[in-house]
Amino acid sequence: CGIVGIVGKDHAEQIIINGLQRLEYRGYDSAGLFVSDEKQEYLIKSQGRIKNLQEKVANDVNGTIGIGHTRWATHGKPSEENAHPHTSQNGKLVLVHNGVIENFEELSQKYLAGEIFYGQTDTEIVVNLIASFMENDGLSTKAAFKKAITVIRGSYAFALVNKDEPETIYVAKNKSPLLIGLGTDFNVIASDALAVLDQTHEFVEIADNELVTVTADKVIIENQDGETIQRDSYEAQLDA
Ligand code: GLU
Repeated sequence: CGIVGIVGKDHAEQIIINGLQRLEYRGYDSAGLFVSDEKQEYLIKSQGRIKNLQEKVANDVNGTIGIGHTRWATHGKPSEENAHPHTSQNGKLVLVHNGVIENFEELSQKYLAGEIFYGQTDTEIVVNLIASFMENDGLSTKAAFKKAITVIRGSYAFALVNKDEPETIYVAKNKSPLLIGLGTDFNVIASDALAVLDQTHEFVEIADNELVTVTADKVIIENQDGETIQRDSYEAQLDA
């Protein structure tokens, strides 16, 4: 299971696929990606190898922002419908997740009573939870994401995109790995630096329960109190 995302570069889908291929060693049963070029959006998923996903990506696809995922099923069978990214029912939010949400049934009953889901994953509950906090509490994407993180129990690396903000990837982690890679006029995210060494060798670590806002020219890390954290980057001494 692994995550790759990028904002600020053309053909995000190719960078994501290359990255996911380098994460294949982490294990997977399905894969998927979401990319947008601010005018058009593409959500592509496939069971099995990353190659299957790659074959589904048509020539006309071009994203300038995107998130991708290899899945190792923990809740719900390996299938295309359970593959990530998961979309909220209002169609606006797209989420990829590595890890396990322990209290997803409880959260579903408390906040999403009566809703019918498309698949069986814990992740689909989370994306709808964030959407419900935006709708019912009038919160911004970031504030709703932050609220979701405070009520979730479990392990996660999340990357979230709101289709109405096709220039921002929101990121958070707890007990699952996720790194930010810094580029010139673009930034990337990945479960492992190996996945994106063809893009950058400069990385920033994120700590559990921080909330990170990633755009093409900025990475803003905040703690649970909303304070901005300054953290130095480091050079990965690895070969691509
Ligand atoms: N728990 C999630 C699922 O079953 C994520 C699994 C993963 O880490 O790939 O879809």
